[in-house]
Amino acid sequence: MSKIQKKELLYEGKAKRIFLTDMEDKLIQEFKDDATAFDGAKKGVIVKKGEINNAISAFLFEYLENYHIPTHFLEEISANQMLVRKLNIIPVEVVLRNVAAGSLCARYKIQEGTVMEYPILEYYLKSDELHDPMINEYHAYAFGHATPDETKAINRIASKVNAILKSFFDRRNLVLVDFKLEFGKKGTEIYLADEISPDTCRIWDKKTHKKLDKDRFRHDMGGVEKAYAELRDRITNS
Ligand code: ADP
Ligand code: UDP
Repeated sequence: MSKIQKKELLYEGKAKRIFLTDMEDKLIQEFKDDATAFDGAKKGVIVKKGEINNAISAFLFEYLENYHIPTHFLEEISANQMLVRKLNIIPVEVVLRNVAAGSLCARYKIQEGTVMEYPILEYYLKSDELHDPMINEYHAYAFGHATPDETKAINRIASKVNAILKSFFDRRNLVLVDFKLEFGKKGTEIYLADEISPDTCRIWDKKTHKKLDKDRFRHDMGGVEKAYAELRDRITNS
């Protein structure tokens, strides 16, 4: 356990709180049980979600570090808190898709569950006010959010994360349908930031296609807490 001191709240988001610490370059990321969907229009609580998302994110960040993916993760400091590197977050949500679901189905009229012949990588501008509009790399350059070299690094890391996690989940009889990543900068380095959890991924059982992610909350499917706990166990008991 680290002797790190928690200082003032830097930012409170929809699913997490970020605290300063006594170390200038480190933050505490605290996961909440609060859940939102449809741009914050739907609000609720998923009991134990904070602990589960902290455990899953910590496990997956550590796993990815073994494959030389640079992440902001430093250590787990309590059930629902992790110590992370303080970064300048690039306000772009990078979405990777292996199987059609969610907004892709609506936008392109594709049936949920259709397997993509090649993974899709999309950028969305991180803006609650604008409802996260889809953008491309040129918007990111033009708006000053990332340089061509930085998007090249981001795309390479995102594709590598997809390949690593796809086979990780496959070995646990799970399908990695899609997920969202965020990246941050520290000097010239790019790190994977935020979280990787059932709040930010779609994950299905390979055989039954049972959903083990936030879609259960989004669409009032029931068994949300049980699904999150099942996913944590299937990821971490390996
Ligand atoms: P939102 O802002 O969308 O409501 P969260 O509740 O998840 O999201 O809040 C966490 C915030 O912390 C996000 O805005 C995220 O970009 C930011 N963040 C994640 N990792 C880091 C980091 N390493 N350094 C600084 N900020 C971070
Ligand atoms: N996602 C996310 N945060 C967002 C939007 C999407 O974590 O603000 C994740 C979502 O959980 C899914 C993937 O990104 O795993 C693709 O989401 P999609 O574009 O289908 O949007 P949604 O259906 O969530 O509106």
